[in-house]
Amino acid sequence: MSFSVTVIGSNSAIPAHGRHPSAQVVTINDKVYLIDCGEGTQMRLNEFGVKWMRVNQIFISHLHGDHFFGLIGVVSTCHLMRRNRPLDIYSPPGLESIIRDQLIAGQTELMYELRFHELNPEQSERIYENEDITVDTVVLNHRIPCLGFIFREKQRQRKIIREKLAEYQIPVEFIPDIKAGKDILDEGTGKRILNSEITTDPPRPRSYAYCCDTAYFPNIVPYIQGVDLLYHDCTFAEDSEQRAADTFHSTTIQAARIAQQAGVARLMIGHFSSKYDDLQVLLREAQSVFPLSILAIEGRTTAIER
Ligand SMILES: [Zn+2]
Ligand SMILES: [Zn+2]
Repeated sequence: MSFSVTVIGSNSAIPAHGRHPSAQVVTINDKVYLIDCGEGTQMRLNEFGVKWMRVNQIFISHLHGDHFFGLIGVVSTCHLMRRNRPLDIYSPPGLESIIRDQLIAGQTELMYELRFHELNPEQSERIYENEDITVDTVVLNHRIPCLGFIFREKQRQRKIIREKLAEYQIPVEFIPDIKAGKDILDEGTGKRILNSEITTDPPRPRSYAYCCDTAYFPNIVPYIQGVDLLYHDCTFAEDSEQRAADTFHSTTIQAARIAQQAGVARLMIGHFSSKYDDLQVLLREAQSVFPLSILAIEGRTTAIER
């Protein structure tokens, strides 16, 4: 099963140095999810060859423009491309009226169902689930209500060793119980067959946490503990710590400290201030605290391995 993150936009407020406002695509088991939708997101998705008409869920972290100004474009193009499947949008309160007003002004009656899900910006909770994954929110610390999103693969069932089934002559009707981890009673001999003899462990579930925008906020640590990849706000270098605090953003060292405290496997830093043309200084600072840090590079896909 595939699990990857593609950065579409990595800059903060203003597009600069060839970088764009926030957006990311998460691909899990060939399903495509969009996180944030800054201005120009649909053009960038086309440029990177993302099959974004397949997106059925869009998660918006907060209502600063650099995270949702591209949404009306996506909504409108879906209509013009004759989409007929519903599109679900998850965000803190206030987004629906903004989007609907724009549609009303253009007398656009959508050909598909647009469903808004208002999230509680004060409580971390499960907001989405399908057969493959769960998505939970985590409350961030920003100037306006802002939520991070944690994508987790579901625990798969145990894997049956086919040869063992034949060896013990286990009837097929036992398979669901075996996959669920139960032992089997051999009716011929009256002996118990241990589940561990006939199955192997399922693959380890992988996880991704998107935490942007936020000031340094250790409260998030328990929620993102041990994730395989953490994307964290890293708007400024360490010498701008005061500016980061004033604007409710994070510095390199702060992002790296959160990664360290949460014991994540890898940290991706992004949401870069326009004051940085060259990002190497940011990477070096983050790596000085958390060596497994990488930069968010637009168009680059990072696979989350087991
Ligand atoms: Zn932002
Ligand atoms: Zn913001």
